[in-house]
Formats: sequence, structure tokens, C-alpha cells
Amino acid sequence: MTLLELDDVSVTYRIASGEVPAVRGVSLSLDSGAALGVAGESGSGKSTLAMALLRLLPRDARVDGRILLGGEDVLAMKWGRLRAVRWAEASIVFQGAQHGLNPVRRIGEQIAEPMLVHGLAKPDQAGKRVAELLGQVGMPAWRAQSYPHELSGGQRQRVMIAMALACSPKLIIADEPTTALDVMVQAQVLTLIKELVAEHDISLIMISHDLSVLADVCGQLAVMYAGRVVEHGPSHEVFHDAKHPYSRALAAAFPTVGDPASRLAPKGLGGDPPDPMHLPSGCSFHPRCPIALEECSSLDVELWPAGDRRTAACVHVRAKEEAS
Ligand code: ADP
Ligand code: MG
Repeated sequence: MTLLELDDVSVTYRIASGEVPAVRGVSLSLDSGAALGVAGESGSGKSTLAMALLRLLPRDARVDGRILLGGEDVLAMKWGRLRAVRWAEASIVFQGAQHGLNPVRRIGEQIAEPMLVHGLAKPDQAGKRVAELLGQVGMPAWRAQSYPHELSGGQRQRVMIAMALACSPKLIIADEPTTALDVMVQAQVLTLIKELVAEHDISLIMISHDLSVLADVCGQLAVMYAGRVVEHGPSHEVFHDAKHPYSRALAAAFPTVGDPASRLAPKGLGGDPPDPMHLPSGCSFHPRCPIALEECSSLDVELWPAGDRRTAACVHVRAKEEAS
């Protein structure tokens, strides 16, 4: 069953100097219990897309297209309904847990808060549920008494995951949940997320610049470039046999999960992603593309079928498809 459906979703920030087309025409769907990875370098529109799903964007952002969560139109929801949907139907784990936690409140109170706000636990039962949630993320119950600064980065991220689980959502969106952590801790937190979503039958959207991380956790992968999805398909196929030259470069840049060396210097990816306010003509990737043709500077290719349940937006893919 389809839990989430994005139909031609675009997000444009209106700023003083003009419009920033941060997400452009993204269509994706996610089945109940499935995990979708969204990959792409910094600035490709991943966080903007994630925030659009729960309407967490600033007021200067305009969202076009359609977002259906459990068949309900998120963009048409009234505020009351939207508040109920956040946490209880879908919750987000942000990058860098330190920003998500209040430094002067004990973590137990913070984990309990969304449950109390949504009336999913009575104050006298909340402590028990917090202990249970801490157990699920591999932390002892006494940690409820701790303040964020008393925890390591990995522990803080576990607390964020416990908060995301608290209201038993159908969907968790994890935006670079392990990027700020060192490699060992990163692997532990990834394993935890993988186990929890499988155990509780939660759908997952996981965002990362690191394709190897996503291929490890998610069944499906969408690769974004300059606000667009340029490739989509089963994650191992996309990771090991990418059809789009950008996905290929990303896969080569992050060969093993969380490799710190490649995080600093992505191999095979020269240049920088474009500024969305000044996108190159034609295919946005053509100035960095090792196999660009002359036509790529004027021709913007849409997603084409690229094998079984796969799509990619590249002239070479289109040429192969048209020849077959
Ligand atoms: P990612 O998460 O992939 O790094 P983001 O979604 O954060 O990408 O950003 C996509 C683009 O939107 C970037 O060019 C970024 O500068 C721009 N952007 C993000 N937030 C805002 C904002 N509040 N106002 C204007 N532009 C923004
Ligand atoms: Mg981001």
C-alpha cells in the first residue's frame, strides 16, 4: 500500500534578490514499511524536500504540486490536522542532534513532550514509556534524568530517534541522521534505525550525501541534483550500476559506509553543484559531466526508463531506450 506520494513537487524560496528553485518537479512514492534513500550533494534540495513533506518550511517558501500522506493532501491540511500529523503520523530526525534538543531540560521530559501534547500518554505513564523508548534505542532508563550536554553525539542522536518513535508514527524522515558522528558511532546508529523501522513496520525516508549509507539501509534510492531527481531505482542496483553519470560519480565518491577520507574529498566529482538561482542551461549536470554531448547544454532530458523499475534523466539513457 502506498503511504506517501509526491506528485510533481516543487519548492521555491522567494528572497530579496529573486526566486530560488530549490526543488523542481519531484515525483516519488513510498510504500508502507518501505525505506527510500534520497542522495545528493549539499544544496541539491534534500532538506527542503523533507521539510515540505510536513510543511515545516519558512513562510517565504512556496510549495507546488501534490503531497499525499496516507491519501491525505498535506498541502491542503488545516493547522489543527497538520499538528496532529506531525509526530503522530510522521516525524523527522534532523542532522546534528544538538540543535533539536533543549539544553536546559532533561531528556526524559523532552522525549515525553510530543506524547503528552498529542494525548498519547498520561503524565503518570509517560515515565514508563520514556524508559521503554530509551531501551529501544539502546540506552539505560536512568538517562532520562540527564541533560543533553551529559551525552555523547551518538547518544543525543539516539534520543532524537526515541523522540521520533514516541508517538508511533507511520513514517520517519531522517535527514543526515549520522553525518555529524564518527564512523563507528555512525554505523551503530544506522543499524539501530534499520532495526527499529523493520521491527515497528515504519516507513523511512533517509537523506544523505553518502550513497553507500543509503544503499545499506534503504530498498529504493532517489538521487537528486540541483533540485531534481536524476535517477531512481532499487538501491543496490543504483549504487553498483548507476545509469546517470552523477549517481556514478556519487557512488564512486563514497565507496564504503561513512569513510571519513571520502567525506572530505569526494573522488571523481570535480567542481561544485550549481547555484539554483543560476542553473546551467540544458541538463544542470552537463558542466561537470565526463560524458556530456554537445546537445546536453541545451537539452533538458526528463526521467527515462532505465531497466526494470529504474529511471534516469540522461541523454545516454534515452538513446539506449530509443534504440531498443
Ligand atoms: P540539501 O539539504 O540537499 O543540502 P537544501 O534543501 O538545504 O539542500 O538547499 C537547497 C537549496 O535551497 C540551496 O541552494 C539552498 O541555498 C537553498 N535554500 C535552503 N533554505 C533556504 C531559505 N530558507 N531561503 C533561501 N534559500 C534556501
Ligand atoms: Mg540538508
